Amino acid sequence: MALKDFAAEMDRCSVCSYCKWIPFDQMKSWRFAKNCPSVAYYNFNSYSARGRYAVARSLLNEQSEYSDTVRNIVHTCMTCGACDVSCKVCRYNLEPLEMVRELKFSLVEAEQVLDQHEALIASLNQEHNILHKPKSERGAWADGLDVARLPSEKAEILFHAGCRLSYDEDLQKTAVSAVQLLKSMGVDVGILGEKEMCCGGRVYSMGYRDEFNHFADLNMKVWANAGVKTVVTACADCYHAFKRLYPPLGSQVEVLHMVEFIERLIQQGKLRFRSEVPMTVTYHDPCHLGRQGEPYVPWNGVEKKIKGQIIVYEPNKPRYNGAWGVYDPPRNILRSIPGVKLVEMERIREYSWCCGAGGGVREAYPEFSAWTAAERIAEAKATGAEALVSACPWCERNFMDSISATGAGLQVYDVLALVEKAL
Ligand code: SF4
Ligand code: SF4
Repeated sequence: MALKDFAAEMDRCSVCSYCKWIPFDQMKSWRFAKNCPSVAYYNFNSYSARGRYAVARSLLNEQSEYSDTVRNIVHTCMTCGACDVSCKVCRYNLEPLEMVRELKFSLVEAEQVLDQHEALIASLNQEHNILHKPKSERGAWADGLDVARLPSEKAEILFHAGCRLSYDEDLQKTAVSAVQLLKSMGVDVGILGEKEMCCGGRVYSMGYRDEFNHFADLNMKVWANAGVKTVVTACADCYHAFKRLYPPLGSQVEVLHMVEFIERLIQQGKLRFRSEVPMTVTYHDPCHLGRQGEPYVPWNGVEKKIKGQIIVYEPNKPRYNGAWGVYDPPRNILRSIPGVKLVEMERIREYSWCCGAGGGVREAYPEFSAWTAAERIAEAKATGAEALVSACPWCERNFMDSISATGAGLQVYDVLALVEKAL
């Protein structure tokens, strides 16, 4: 699609501003009622979905030109998708998330880019990761682990670590725990090690569509060569890329997040927790596992108007409103660990507040990103929990950095860390 394909949507936006809030029936307090980090932080309408529709229309109609202001308005969108859920639930069924992605694509095509994003792209092209690390060291996290290395060795299931878990020394233990758990359960698992590459999901959310397509193609070719049929990951970004963005490009590989795999093992009676973990925790839904973790549904239909004004789709268009994301598996795992008490934040599931790390914001707008994380940490602390648990290393990194900077006094865990404690 192109930005002009959203022209009708731009006119259909009723400027109701529901996209700035979680739906009214979900609100529990004024303090945690907002959903769009960028309009909450910059406190100016242009930084909301509604405002970005207006900016897009203005650019499309050549009523405004590219400027630092326009670049900042577009690139401060985390593509968290919270606006998209509220617009669909409360109002018009528009596609603000798809539109803002298209807006980002159009800026990148017009070379309206940020230096910090260009640096990530250089790292991606040269080292196949977005963390400026050598590709030769990508598999070092698994040194000493007895795990098959594809494609020279074979395995039924591929564990994809992703850039963050491969290189972040504080978080690599999640990847190690995942492989050790799978092996202890008798799962025939392998890794690609230094042959693994970035999924491309994060550069997609920054507007770099060509680079995403290139890396999706590379990953799918590597999987085909290695005979991969199932990919398991502990990273929400990789999950979203593989599950939602790759299928339209031809991928037919089964994709599971570790929380789905672990829940399945518990349900099959293969995984039992023996140790008590006395802890009160709250769970943060990563945007890319939750509201954006819904499976891709192919659609090749058309839009029609009936009676000159009512818009219908033939056949019915898939409605991604976040309701079918991955919400219950992590909660079911936490509830099945003896001693763990799960208390919920006010904004959960498809109405969750973003961690602040997405869309290239962590790299280009660090103060805004840190503020967004601190808001979530305040919400987590309000529950009385002693730990904030998640299922995405990008969220966990942003929370850990915010807590170290502010001294917020909250522990951060991946679900897998609590699983390991309970074994
Ligand atoms: S909720 Fe939807 S229709 Fe309302 S202002 Fe936001 S984008 Fe426009
Ligand atoms: S995707 Fe997130 S940051 Fe971007 S406009 Fe929507 S709610 Fe705001």
